[in-house]
Amino acid sequence: MHTAHENLAGKDEKYVWHAMRPFDPKSTMVIEKAKGAWLTDYNGNQFLDAMAGLWCVNVGYGREELAEAAYNQLKTLSYYPLTHTHAPAIKLAEKLNEMLGGGYVIFFSNSGSEANETAFKIARQYHEQNGDVHRNKIVSRYRAYHGNTMGSLAATGQAQRKYKYEPLGQGFLHVQPPDMYRDGTIVANQLPSVKAVDDMMTWELSETIAAMIMEPIITGGGIIMPQQGYMKAVKEVCEKHGALLICDEVISGFGRTGKAFGFMNYDVKPDIVTMAKGLTSGYLPLSATAVKEEVYEAFKGTQQYDHFRHINTFGGNPASCALALKNLEIMETEQLFDRSMELGEKLKNELQSRLSNHPYVGDVRGKGLLIGIELVEDRATKKPLGVPELNKVIGYCKSQGVIIGKNGDTVAGYNNVLTMAPPLSIEEKDVDLLIQTVVEGILQL
Ligand code: PMP
Repeated sequence: MHTAHENLAGKDEKYVWHAMRPFDPKSTMVIEKAKGAWLTDYNGNQFLDAMAGLWCVNVGYGREELAEAAYNQLKTLSYYPLTHTHAPAIKLAEKLNEMLGGGYVIFFSNSGSEANETAFKIARQYHEQNGDVHRNKIVSRYRAYHGNTMGSLAATGQAQRKYKYEPLGQGFLHVQPPDMYRDGTIVANQLPSVKAVDDMMTWELSETIAAMIMEPIITGGGIIMPQQGYMKAVKEVCEKHGALLICDEVISGFGRTGKAFGFMNYDVKPDIVTMAKGLTSGYLPLSATAVKEEVYEAFKGTQQYDHFRHINTFGGNPASCALALKNLEIMETEQLFDRSMELGEKLKNELQSRLSNHPYVGDVRGKGLLIGIELVEDRATKKPLGVPELNKVIGYCKSQGVIIGKNGDTVAGYNNVLTMAPPLSIEEKDVDLLIQTVVEGILQL
């Protein structure tokens, strides 16, 4: 083993606190560099990163234009808070509004969690400003992930991530999510998952509901696909009860589902849209909360405290904004959203056809380059396959130099979805390699 790798892995074990799982230093990848969809560790091993880091490196690694955009901006204006303003933030806000189809103003923060926190505060204050002082509850779905801070974690619908940190932010309610695989193809407005939202808002009293937050497709909970009409039906329910619809596009934004934003697959226009990850392709921290102009209007009053009392030191950092603009330019020039749709269809279709008879493959699903394979013990009962089997597939893929993910929700009893979300710039031959490796991995079971 290369000594640089050994030294770093040893120090890592001593000094770096890692998130989420029991940490196994033997399998630590100490990554030295990356280009396109490929990572290289200090031993010179290469890995195809079919998770784009944490679903975020949409344009791929190692783009020098992005480094230059940040460098040039840092030389000109390294920092100034958005209590005043600067050109990179203005230009980026204009661009995001255009990408959203117009009619939005943008509030910048640094992470997806913060973008969601910002959305919750905006939703609550919006109703307050309009004299609707009891509207403070936020509805969300079980199995969804919305972030790690006290509010966005409260909105998260995965109990195992939450129960050791309670009490979290107050006023968050959860309903059952849609699930194409298990609910079948029921007509959207007759879906139990839509009725659950309507009932919740009625029984809690419409006048107490501020907003509903949802991802167009639940990603971290296991690429849970909604029925095509679900989102539109939920938007109508929100309108009926006077609640705002917040769309969490932290993963699904910027081409991940083959469109600029995931909601664009479902014929709705959310009141608030939150975004992060792909906004800078993970090169620098930046997030945004886009808010419909009508909502923003409520904050323009001249009374003391009419404005949004939410300051953010680093949000909208000039270098992050300049880099984000270049990142969006690359997406446009290389038509990466269309590429995501095309390569995603290929990935899904080939996995579907090559695994269609496999007894453990319950469902292959997704949109764009956001693909999940739900593994089950039994295709008739749809009983989830265990984590050790999933780890076996993931371990096989890693041994072949391909990194894929695993998602789901332990408490809900589902931790059985293999996930793939590679850079949208992934080469077609690497999609072939991904397909071949994942199929081989599943055939090992
Ligand atoms: N929303 C969703 C849908 C996410 O997947 C994530 C992070 N994976 C977040 C919010 C939180 O983003 P961050 O980790 O940048 O705070």
